[in-house]
Amino acid sequence: MTATAEPRSFAAAAAAPRVLRDHLWMHFATHNGRDEADAPLIVRGEGAYLFDDKGKRYLDGLAGLFAVQVGHGRAELAEAAARQMRELPYFPLWGYGHPPAIELADRLAASAPGDLERVFFTVGGGESVETAWKLARQYFKLSGQPTKHKVISRSMAYHGTSLGALSITGIPGAKAPFEPLVPSTQRVPNTNFYRATEHADDYAAYALWAADRIEEAILFEGPETVAAVFLEPVQNTGGCFVPPPGYFQRVREICDRHDVLLVSDEVICAFGRLGTPFGAQRFGYQPDMITTAKGLTSGYAPLGAVLISDRLAEPFHRTETPFMHGSTYGGHPVSCAVALANLDILEGENLYEHVRTNEDRFRTTLEKLTDLPIVGEVRGTGYFWAVELVKDKSTKERFTPEESTRILREYLSKQLFAHGLYCRADDRAEPVIQFAPPLICDRTHFEEIEQILRETLTGAWKLL
Ligand code: PMP
Repeated sequence: MTATAEPRSFAAAAAAPRVLRDHLWMHFATHNGRDEADAPLIVRGEGAYLFDDKGKRYLDGLAGLFAVQVGHGRAELAEAAARQMRELPYFPLWGYGHPPAIELADRLAASAPGDLERVFFTVGGGESVETAWKLARQYFKLSGQPTKHKVISRSMAYHGTSLGALSITGIPGAKAPFEPLVPSTQRVPNTNFYRATEHADDYAAYALWAADRIEEAILFEGPETVAAVFLEPVQNTGGCFVPPPGYFQRVREICDRHDVLLVSDEVICAFGRLGTPFGAQRFGYQPDMITTAKGLTSGYAPLGAVLISDRLAEPFHRTETPFMHGSTYGGHPVSCAVALANLDILEGENLYEHVRTNEDRFRTTLEKLTDLPIVGEVRGTGYFWAVELVKDKSTKERFTPEESTRILREYLSKQLFAHGLYCRADDRAEPVIQFAPPLICDRTHFEEIEQILRETLTGAWKLL
């Protein structure tokens, strides 16, 4: 390319007949011809809104994919990337440092809870989960407990798609095509209180019951074999399962009792999604590691990180043994520079506080929908909410699989989008509509969400 080359435009791709787009293999999408034909083309974003190739506007109710905390089109982030590309476009972290990675690690350690003083950079969330499991395994080998290697996680929780992270994932349908996976993972119940079968009338007792299932699994497996428990602060899949008060405190005690590491998977729940820099801070517990990604750069560049306690780093400092793990692009300088500029915005514009101030309004606006017969429950925290749909509100009866396909996949997904709202109708576990809008959103956006939802849910009810 010459210095005078014109900037590349994607307008031609957008305008191209569909046959020219047939080479793209979309993620988690069926490719039977129909989805490609219907697949919308998003070409631009500005603030809380997205625009398609025809200029139609959509409210981004999911921050892309739980990522775009500061909203679309922030010139500061584009400029940070361009500056870094001019200065040092790329260098690996294999035995070398570069300024943006060092500065970002310092900044993350300073805002993390407790002694999470070490930061290992990755490219994304699943890779952070994979890294944390491998680190837990090598840590126990170095500290004289070589049989500790297993992981406990929760039913229906999503932790990524690489074979290790998928093995930790608790969604049977996401795993089945790839079995057998990495052995040594076990599932325990999540905190779906709406459908509790035990202590359904006593939230405090339910919290302890759910946490104690973790201890039961550790004892069943043998504490000398269990390395870690992976939990999201608020579990996404199934629809924003908030931890009951006391749950994480009990889990911490159990982990301490059996020398099992508590890994807080905050790929979604960090960087303000729950109104705090890290999700563990929202619920007042101390993890041994935090896995994160997405909101770290507001999705403007791929980056993940694992925050690691001093205790876990100690055997690596004491011996000559390296952590035998890394990748070409983990901690990419451009991504780190973007992350630093993103943290500047999150802190400079008080977005953590903004979320805490506005979350009740978001909740009460969504709760207006509970007058609709199809809405079973509205639940969540911060800017992270789910609306669970039911066939019968009084009995909490679920849709049949056929109804779920018809209502969620065929009707709601398309209708919400057609009405100008990008969000997610998910039926991998309970049928829910998920919301995680950019953190810059306020009352007008909540009202827009409620109004579009009301109209489409009313339409969906008529299909039953
Ligand atoms: N953990 C959690 C809790 C997630 O929500 C996700 C992605 N949604 C991942 C891990 C995997 O992240 P990625 O898609 O960046 O690999």
